[in-house]
Amino acid sequence: MIHRNLWRPDTCDCALEYEWDDAQDEATRRHSISRIVQACLAHATVMTAEQHYDIVLAENRQKNRLYGAILDSLPSAVRWREQDDGTTIRELQPGKEFGFSYDAQRRLVLDLKGFTEAERTVLRSLPLFSNPGVVVL
Ligand SMILES: [Zn+2]
Repeated sequence: MIHRNLWRPDTCDCALEYEWDDAQDEATRRHSISRIVQACLAHATVMTAEQHYDIVLAENRQKNRLYGAILDSLPSAVRWREQDDGTTIRELQPGKEFGFSYDAQRRLVLDLKGFTEAERTVLRSLPLFSNPGVVVL
């Protein structure tokens, strides 16, 4: 059976409807774009729906990977917290914030509040953060 879901990424104001088939194995299942419901200003000129989906997905994954790299690389910035359902998650210590936006060149600008200079130095040494498409404030 084909399922359709609406995705509103937190990296832009696009709204994309994608579909997937539950008859396909979960491990190899492919999500494909079915409709651009709303295009944000940054992605309004993208040619095809597939390109649109790929670009928005790549930006969202890049942002998620950078956040994951912070959790993996900076034990001093991370704590474990038990959720209501009993599972535990990693999150930033209170007082630290992972803010992000995009500049006019569509570079990902990370606004890391509450991080020490030593922590920033560790992050800047990571290949993910040395990418010319990433700016660390
Ligand atoms: Zn967009």
